[in-house]
Amino acid sequence: MYSTAHPRDYPACSGCSLCRLVCPMWRHRRDPRFSPEGIAKARQNGAGVTELADVLDACTLCGACDPVCPEDIALSDMIMDLRGELELPPDLAVLQVGYAQAAAQAAPAPAGALLLAGAALRADPTLLTQVEALLGLRSAGDDGADLAVALEIGGDIDPQRKRRFLNAIDGRSLVVGDGLLLRELRRWLPGARLQGLGEALGSLPAIRRRIASTDFYVIEARAFHADHARLVAHYDGLRKDRGCAMNLDLQRIAMPARASAYPALRMGPAREDLEQARWLLQGRRPARIVIEDAAERDVLRRVADVPVLHLAELAALNEVTVYA
Ligand code: SF4
Ligand code: SF4
Repeated sequence: MYSTAHPRDYPACSGCSLCRLVCPMWRHRRDPRFSPEGIAKARQNGAGVTELADVLDACTLCGACDPVCPEDIALSDMIMDLRGELELPPDLAVLQVGYAQAAAQAAPAPAGALLLAGAALRADPTLLTQVEALLGLRSAGDDGADLAVALEIGGDIDPQRKRRFLNAIDGRSLVVGDGLLLRELRRWLPGARLQGLGEALGSLPAIRRRIASTDFYVIEARAFHADHARLVAHYDGLRKDRGCAMNLDLQRIAMPARASAYPALRMGPAREDLEQARWLLQGRRPARIVIEDAAERDVLRRVADVPVLHLAELAALNEVTVYA
């Protein structure tokens, strides 16, 4: 689906291993095959996609490896390409069809700026209503959820379907809930005014001033890594203003709270997700966890004994004063 129009691809891998340091697959398994380096090296040595199926399935597409590769290999794109050559996971292919049918029946997009909520947020109608009210946006009935599934599983995207979706949103300001779709929209609609949900909500004073120094703030990794160079300033500013801890490592790469494939689409966290979330919280004693991505609530609630709140839910709470 992506062809191989990357600036650089797996032949450029030097084996420096930097990508292992940030990869949740590697961190969890400690198996060199389960890392971007492992995939690149296997490809250099002639491995076919079926031999790599387990590894390709395990990748969360968090994008953490992309900004760290000194050879500038588009690693998560490489993995999405390869996934596209695997057989589709049947349950997810069915899900994609269901979303596409819902999109075909959706009312035309309302006028003005739009929220493309995405599957995880739409699954919580109360939270979705809060988000719409806070941002003063209306949701597009067709939020491209089927396209987000196709991106996740490396499935084909029907060009007519894509054109119809893009025509309905072109020229609008968009806030996008699905980090993977946001990443593609930057390519599909260059010059469009696009923001991820976490950035949009975290920029609102009514929410920002309620983030406390005792919070652990969990950045949605996909949206962050897709626009890493720009968003570093946003999150550094947030951290400095509010004094909260974040899921950023020393290189300011966001560690995702989940560690299994298809994170936004699974019905519940897998064992490795729980281990990843525990690892993320290791050595921390936050009073509260604040999340940008509704899909990460479940796994964090299972491993933490403190409240886990979506950013939008902060708006209804008492303000927090931070003394510098
Ligand atoms: S996208 Fe994330 S999980 Fe996949 S290889 Fe890169 S760092 Fe690892
Ligand atoms: S960071 Fe890039 S060059 Fe280094 S091992 Fe990973 S893929 Fe290869």
